[in-house]
Amino acid sequence: AAKLAGGNMWRFFAAEMGATSGEVVNLERDLRNAITQQEFIINYQPQFDLRSGALLGAEALLRWKRPDLGLVYPNLFLSLAEETGLILPINEWVINETCRQISTWEKQGVELRVGLNISSIQFRRRTIFQTVSNAIAEAGINPKSLDLELTEGILLRDVDDTIAQLDALRGLGVTLSLDDFGTGYSSLSYIQKFPLDRLKVDRSFIQRLAENKNDLAIVRTIIDLGHILKLSVLAEGVETSAQLALLQAEGCDEGQGFLLGKALPPERFLKEFYCQGTQVSLLNSKRTVR
Ligand code: C2E
Ligand code: MG
Ligand code: MG
Ligand code: MG
Repeated sequence: AAKLAGGNMWRFFAAEMGATSGEVVNLERDLRNAITQQEFIINYQPQFDLRSGALLGAEALLRWKRPDLGLVYPNLFLSLAEETGLILPINEWVINETCRQISTWEKQGVELRVGLNISSIQFRRRTIFQTVSNAIAEAGINPKSLDLELTEGILLRDVDDTIAQLDALRGLGVTLSLDDFGTGYSSLSYIQKFPLDRLKVDRSFIQRLAENKNDLAIVRTIIDLGHILKLSVLAEGVETSAQLALLQAEGCDEGQGFLLGKALPPERFLKEFYCQGTQVSLLNSKRTVR
C-alpha cells in the first residue's frame, strides 16, 4: 500500500475497513491501545515439505480483532506501526505470544517450526536479539522452533552491523529466512554475505508460474541459486495444483499457500493439520494420516 500522509491515513483506513462516515477511526490511538486491550491475535499458516508432503511448521501471521470493525489484516496498519515506532512493542508481543504457543505445543508433544515476521526497525534499533532471547528463555522453548523471516530491506543497512546481529541471533539456535525474495534490490551475489538458512520465493513469481515462461525461469533460477548457497527454498502463495506440480518438478523444497492451507487460530491449526502426534500429508488430497 502506498504511504499516506498522517492526516489522510485514518480516512483511508476507515474506508478500507468499511467504516461508515459516522464512525471515527483514530488509527494511531487505537493501535497504541490494541496490545493492552488484547485485540491482537495470531493465526498460523502451514508450511510443508514438498518432497515428503510432511508438515514442517507454520508462519505466525498477525491479525487485529477490532470490536467495532472486525478482523483487520496487517497490511492496513503495518506502515503506520513502522512510522510511529509502535511496531517495536507490537512485534515484541507477537514474538512472546508465539513462543508461549510453541511452549504449549511442546508440552503436547507437538514439534513445529514457526516463522516470525521481523521488522527492519528491530534491527535499526538493535532490539531484536534481546527480544528474541528473552522470549525463548521465558517460554523455555527449543530455539530451533523459531524461524525469523527477514525482508531484503534489512540487508540494505550497514552490512557489518546487520551480519553481527544475524550471527548473534543464529548463535541462539534460531534459523533465518529471507522473505518475499525477488521483490527487493539485493543482488544474487549480495545475499551470500548473510548467514541465512532459507529463501522464501515471493508469491508474485508463483502466481503465473503455469502460464508465464519468464516466471518459471525466474523461480528455477532462485531454486538453483538457493541450492548452490546451501539454502532451503520455500515457495509462497501456492494456490493451484499446477503450481504445486511445477514446484515439485523443479526441486523446490518447501511450500505454503491457500492450496495447502490458510492461516488458522492455533487450536484449529492443530486439528486441521496435525493429528494425534502424526503429521498430516499434503500429498494425500483427503489429508489422511501417513
Ligand atoms: P508475508 O510475510 O509475505 O506473509 C504471507 C502473506 O501472504 C500473508 O498475508 C498470507 O495470508 C498471504 N498468503 C499466504 N498464502 C497465500 C496464497 O496462496 N495466496 C494469497 N493471495 N495470499 C497468500 P497477511 O497475513 O495479510 O500478511 C501480510 C504481510 O504482513 C506479511 O507478508 C508480513 O510481511 C506482514 N506481517 C504479518 N504478520 C506480521 C507480524 O507479526 N509482524 C510484522 N512486522 N509483519 C507481519
Ligand atoms: Mg513472512
Ligand atoms: Mg512472504
Ligand atoms: Mg509475500
